[in-house]
Amino acid sequence: RNRQLVKLRGEDSVTLDGEAVELFANIALPDDLPEARKAGAAGVGLFRTEFLFLNREDLPSEEEQVEAYQKVIRGMRGRMTTIRTADIGGDKMLSRESLALLADSDFEEANPALGLRALRFCFAFRPLFITQLRALMRAATAGSVRLLLPMVSSSSDVHEVRACIEEAAAQLEAEGLRYRKNIPLGGMIELPAAVAGLSDLLPLLDFFSLGTNDLVQYTLAADRTNAYVSRYCDDCHPAVMRFIAESIRRVTAAGKEISVCGEMAGRPEMTPFFIGLGCSALSMDPAHIPTIKERIRALSAEDCEIFARGVLRRRSAESVREALADFNDSLK
Ligand code: PEP
Ligand code: MG
Repeated sequence: RNRQLVKLRGEDSVTLDGEAVELFANIALPDDLPEARKAGAAGVGLFRTEFLFLNREDLPSEEEQVEAYQKVIRGMRGRMTTIRTADIGGDKMLSRESLALLADSDFEEANPALGLRALRFCFAFRPLFITQLRALMRAATAGSVRLLLPMVSSSSDVHEVRACIEEAAAQLEAEGLRYRKNIPLGGMIELPAAVAGLSDLLPLLDFFSLGTNDLVQYTLAADRTNAYVSRYCDDCHPAVMRFIAESIRRVTAAGKEISVCGEMAGRPEMTPFFIGLGCSALSMDPAHIPTIKERIRALSAEDCEIFARGVLRRRSAESVREALADFNDSLK
């Protein structure tokens, strides 16, 4: 079995009827790179940079960040690296010591998942964000890079990010440092507001990525880390399936690229649904890449399209699960 998967590394990720689906890797630290390369990833679809900021008592300096980002970019040898700006907050909060370097008083939130997280945290502690953007623009001279914004909730978020990018660029310019400014900018679709507001976001961003983990959490108002409500965190809920479908259809119709980067992307029973919607890129833990590639090579995109249409007519999570199971059984 293992030899079979190693052999798959050199094979194309393409359906029986010729639709290509690129498989990218999700990584947290530069150390995850060898695994991504071994799995034959087409690139990095999600570099969760907040992990550079966690489990320490200080903050990563600009130089440390430049080095970490360049290591990943160079390591991908020309393949695209999608770097997400820090998604700090929620269940990924800085240590008390690191926070004390940013905030004057003790920082406490009753409801962190709905609090200062991701872009909101970065805007609240702007010097931290500017430092990261400077590091990213400096590192981007090393190869193929694009930036991805977490928890985009409105067009204002994007405008505020662009203002921060301008500020960082002006500083680098004045200091005579080498940097790249025109880096493609994408947004995570992980809030219901991003799905409903797609027509406002589409003209402002170059590409999109579906963060299904948070899309499930925020659509169903169920904390993804709270075991008491885990049965409500159900990625087969019809509302979630319809949000995913709407996002993929609208972004694709606008001629822009959309990938799926939440855990759902690495679940083989979901693969026919994504292919049926016309999604041509999935990003996942590298460990799942061979299994998903094997699944894609056994599917017909035409059958998947009919299947996805049927899934979207289901009226309960149980019924969606049944449809997924039936289709998967039919492949055996
Ligand atoms: C997601 O929300 O699906 C996602 C990919 O981001 P994270 O899991 O890091 O929140
Ligand atoms: Mg997320």
